[in-house]
Amino acid sequence: MTVPLVPTTANPARPPSLYGLTRDGLAARLAERGIPGYRADQILMWVYRKHHRSASAMHNLPAILRDGLEEWCGLALPRIAARLGTPEGDTHKFVLALDDGARVECVSMLTERRLTFCVSSQVGCALGCSFCATGLMGLKRNLRADEIVAQVITMGDFHRWQDDRFNIVFMGMGEPLANYDPVVQAVRVLHEPRGLNLGARRVTFSTSGILPGIRRLAAEGLQLGLALSLHATTDTLRNELVPLNRRWPLAELLPAVREYGHRVGRRVTLEYTLIAGVNDRADDARRLAAIARELPSKINLIPYNPVPGLPYERPTRAAVEAFAAWLYPVAPAVTVRHTLGGEIWAACGQLGGLTPED
Ligand code: SAH
Ligand code: SF4
Repeated sequence: MTVPLVPTTANPARPPSLYGLTRDGLAARLAERGIPGYRADQILMWVYRKHHRSASAMHNLPAILRDGLEEWCGLALPRIAARLGTPEGDTHKFVLALDDGARVECVSMLTERRLTFCVSSQVGCALGCSFCATGLMGLKRNLRADEIVAQVITMGDFHRWQDDRFNIVFMGMGEPLANYDPVVQAVRVLHEPRGLNLGARRVTFSTSGILPGIRRLAAEGLQLGLALSLHATTDTLRNELVPLNRRWPLAELLPAVREYGHRVGRRVTLEYTLIAGVNDRADDARRLAAIARELPSKINLIPYNPVPGLPYERPTRAAVEAFAAWLYPVAPAVTVRHTLGGEIWAACGQLGGLTPED
């Protein structure tokens, strides 16, 4: 299987967005107009520390810059086409309308007393995992760096930046390592010390196993968290669930993941979506524990979130507990992901244009 290259789009009617620029990128853009670099720091302060979304109130900028800025450096965020919240108010799903009419979804979750933003890297996904709603859509297009950062800003604005120690997980729509450069650029923008100053340790990439991307990420010198969507412990089953496995089977993938963990100095998360009767037996648990023991890892069990039209089912609670109980004595740290947002189609693998009416 090859990973198709799909161009991102830019709307020529709109100026390029500020949200795709690091401090140096913005300074270079200013320099083209003869404006000194310290103005970039001032603009970042207004945008990322004071959370202004228009230049008009940036009173320490000269009027000519204030008035002209948005003509060549956009500050507008995508329109929120829909926002759905759970009755408990702990999870919100946002549907954002992009310039070209594409829709992208992102989710904010209050977990363990912390705010976590689940962001998308692509509109749809080309990798066609057999159990995933996003996979059913196919790939519509890649997101640009600014469209990724804009998801974070939109959710931060909604939560009024109450918590500046939020986490970001690339577990929304799309495969982050299939849109490598824009996703890493977005992380660099979020990481910008004069901007949001988000620590790389607060960001996790979830990948279905794009081996060259894992190797490249290990060499970036960023301490990003990595989660591998394992879901199966044999190539036979993984080929069926995650077709990308045919390209990079477990014997190649797992050593690259181990190498990532050692190089970055962090445990890798093995995500394992439990599907009734498919991968939830004692033998699966035994093999999963054996894989986990070979890597600096922790295991995250995700009870399957049903997707209309797909034949898979969530195991019973007792079956999930039994699976976890088989692992506990023999595997490194095991957690069960309590599904947040299932009632608003915001849970893992349910992003794909589904709404509660579907
Ligand atoms: N493309 C990336 C990240 C997005 S999916 C990846 O595959 O890792 C985020 C996680 O949700 C992945 O582990 C994915 O396998 C899992 N997932 C997808 N559909 C799911 C579903 N219906 N129920 C539970 N988990 C699902
Ligand atoms: Fe794509 Fe991830 Fe869904 Fe697979 S699980 S189709 S890689 S979004």
